[in-house]
Amino acid sequence: SRESITYFGAGPAGLPTTVLETVAAALVNYKSLGLGIAEISHRSKDAEEILNSCKKDLRTYLGVPDEFEVLFMQGGGTGQFSATIYEFVSLWVERRRKAIAEKKKDEEEVQRELEKEVEELKIDYLVTGGWSLKASQEAARLVGDEHVNIVTDARKINGGKFGKIPEEEDWKISKNAAMVYYCDNETVDGVEFPTFPAILKNGGGEDEPLVVADMSSNILSRPIPFEQFSAVFFGAQKNLGCAGLTVVIIKRCLLAPTAGRADPKIMRKLGLPIGPIALSYDIVSKNNSLYNTLSITDVFLAGQVLKKALNTFGEERVGGQMKVSGEKAEKIYGVLDKRSERYSVVANKGARSRMNICFRILDDEGKVSEELEAKFVKDAAAEGLTGLKGHRSVGGIRASNYNSVSFEGATKLAEFLEQF
Ligand code: PMP
Repeated sequence: SRESITYFGAGPAGLPTTVLETVAAALVNYKSLGLGIAEISHRSKDAEEILNSCKKDLRTYLGVPDEFEVLFMQGGGTGQFSATIYEFVSLWVERRRKAIAEKKKDEEEVQRELEKEVEELKIDYLVTGGWSLKASQEAARLVGDEHVNIVTDARKINGGKFGKIPEEEDWKISKNAAMVYYCDNETVDGVEFPTFPAILKNGGGEDEPLVVADMSSNILSRPIPFEQFSAVFFGAQKNLGCAGLTVVIIKRCLLAPTAGRADPKIMRKLGLPIGPIALSYDIVSKNNSLYNTLSITDVFLAGQVLKKALNTFGEERVGGQMKVSGEKAEKIYGVLDKRSERYSVVANKGARSRMNICFRILDDEGKVSEELEAKFVKDAAAEGLTGLKGHRSVGGIRASNYNSVSFEGATKLAEFLEQF
């Protein structure tokens, strides 16, 4: 039964049973309409209410400032790897074109000057794990390697493996990058930024690079210093809801027409990519996230998760969740550290993720033992602790400590770790 299991899967994550029961009933018959939420029109009043209420609760729970817009999109975190490029490179080009045009009247001259500047175009990536690496690779695929600047590659200071966050003074930030991108929590490698990287501090001015973060796997687990960001994005399937819904929280001033995007004709001439309309932030924003058909079921589910969280944490909101997440993580890391002869945590102390606790199991000689890891996964499952196998690319054990894992569930894992 659901009650006998604690699920530590890395995403999709477990969801509260009460939420699933509410969604299940609404799928069959919503508000006695004789239709369920997967069947009603996304343009109906009921759908609009579901969407607006989810947005409002998300804003309240996270304390999203008024100058930020919340967008519901599709395409997952991976879709956003591309969307951020389409959107922010185009915005950078338009800013540069305007700046050049202020000084030069002749259109051909403007174009020539713009072409020269585009040769120097840089997009900055902090590579601290598998997901930021993938995002940087998508940038290289779309705009070319020469335009991607790796600000830091954490593998270089850790024997070729992820697990540390390099010191900020060693980061190589470009002078006029179109965007600085990082992943706040690396799901595969168990690496999380302890706080906002101070060096990226950004006043949001015209000449400052945009700061963008992927928060797919630690969203809703700690407050976000929104004033430091241009945009953050996350897939819903870890702490918010189910796969299929992707959220972007973006500074309103970066949405057209105020900010502007380069004319597709100009982008074509410059050989830069033009994104699909479904991923265009300003189009999605202008249409209250309903430019094309959105899964209202996914939004309803996320809305129920938020209502539950708001009820649980009251005025504390996400700050309340942060405390619980920290306590659960400490319980588990506490045992891993205590039994360091048996367990080896992948991430360095200052970079340990509260959400994805990755570790290796050592044999009596102190060597990583895949045999023992397989036994651990099997024995844990027999105790109702499931989803503990590490990502296929790195192996080991990964206990994903998302919001749906209860304190009791985390304690049960800590006890299992003690006796294994
Ligand atoms: N970023 C992070 C941090 C992730 O954990 C994931 C998925 N696990 C992604 C991006 C990719 O998300 P999606 O599968 O929704 O495209």
